[in-house]
Amino acid sequence: GLEQRLRPQKKDDDTAEASRSRLNARTGPPAIVEGVEGCIGNTPLFRIKSLSDATGCEILGKAEFLNGAGQSSKDRVALSMIQIAEEKGILTPGTGDTIYEGTSGSTGISLAALARAKGYLAHICMPSDQAIEKSNLLLKLGAIVDRVPPAPIVEKENFVNRARALAHAHTLSSTTPSPVESGVSTPDTAEMEGLRTARGRGYFADQFENEANWRAHYDGTGPELYAQCEGRLDAFVAGAGTGGTISGVALYLKPRIPGLTVVLADPQGSGLYNRVRYGVMFDIKEREGTRRRPQVDTIVEGIGINRVTANFEAGKELVDDAVRVTDAQALAMARWLVEKDGIFIGSSSAVNCFAAVKTAMKLGPGHRIVTVLSDSGSRHLSRFWAKAGDVGGATDTKLEDVLNA
Ligand code: PMP
Repeated sequence: GLEQRLRPQKKDDDTAEASRSRLNARTGPPAIVEGVEGCIGNTPLFRIKSLSDATGCEILGKAEFLNGAGQSSKDRVALSMIQIAEEKGILTPGTGDTIYEGTSGSTGISLAALARAKGYLAHICMPSDQAIEKSNLLLKLGAIVDRVPPAPIVEKENFVNRARALAHAHTLSSTTPSPVESGVSTPDTAEMEGLRTARGRGYFADQFENEANWRAHYDGTGPELYAQCEGRLDAFVAGAGTGGTISGVALYLKPRIPGLTVVLADPQGSGLYNRVRYGVMFDIKEREGTRRRPQVDTIVEGIGINRVTANFEAGKELVDDAVRVTDAQALAMARWLVEKDGIFIGSSSAVNCFAAVKTAMKLGPGHRIVTVLSDSGSRHLSRFWAKAGDVGGATDTKLEDVLNA
């Protein structure tokens, strides 16, 4: 009867106990936390079996796609930027203050979710060539979304400068009758209407320049990695979109782990690779005899820039090396991780994993390498994964195929 079934069966109980202790070797399940903010950080670090076996190194992935508000590493940054603005009295929860941000998508999604949780409005500007599911998700989260024609971050008419201008106009609109009369040009009438009806104050989060960004990784990601690795780590590999992750983690770990190598994973078209390896941001075009800024031209979203942001600047002296990864290599790595490990990640994580393998090969077997799995593949179905195609029944891909893609 029921009583019989409820009584612990000795054998089953042992098995359950063993499996529980395998799953939660040290800490046990996490405690109850407060709200969606409480689901940010303390992400798992796991051994990526296929890459570890193939290289003889231990290649570990920080599962940042498990952050609980916007499902990416950007949750940490969004929370940090909001909290610091609240501490400074720039934002007040529940007032409908508007947070403006320029983003490839992830930071906007995190800000939009947290804005809802805290009683703000999010107005997000993003390049129109980013995966459509990101802007759709922003709309579902109740954000105002501006899709701006793609333009380099150094150019006036790009998504970041648009967000800055809107926040500026909002601020003026709360002190003068009309932003138009005060000479601030804003993009279109719909947004003007939005501004007129905006409650509260406007705040430009500014993830590229706001040091709350790298501090979130210095206070969170870095210490978590140190604890998870028990201080034993040979290399940390990460891409840079704002540079917050690589700077914050490097600033925390480098002084604590002697000999740690920090490697930038850089997609094709990004200027940072040259900056790290040769100290210049420019491609030198021999034929034309001119130096020019590279255009970031890649299918990879969220990483790759052609200027040194304040967040990259903060840790750039600690970046030891850079690996350039082509779109073809990122696509091949993303497929590989599904085929071999059942890991379904986005484009920047694929770049990170490719660079982690290159780093493992350079260091040689027996080293421990940590990289970041920033977001899930489900946020990249219409663009990156549309290009990658279906993995189907493939089982026999060799790592050389990925490396030579
Ligand atoms: N991956 C994704 C998907 C991102 O959106 C970003 C941030 N734009 C990054 C990686 C890079 O992180 P960071 O801004 O800290 O350099």
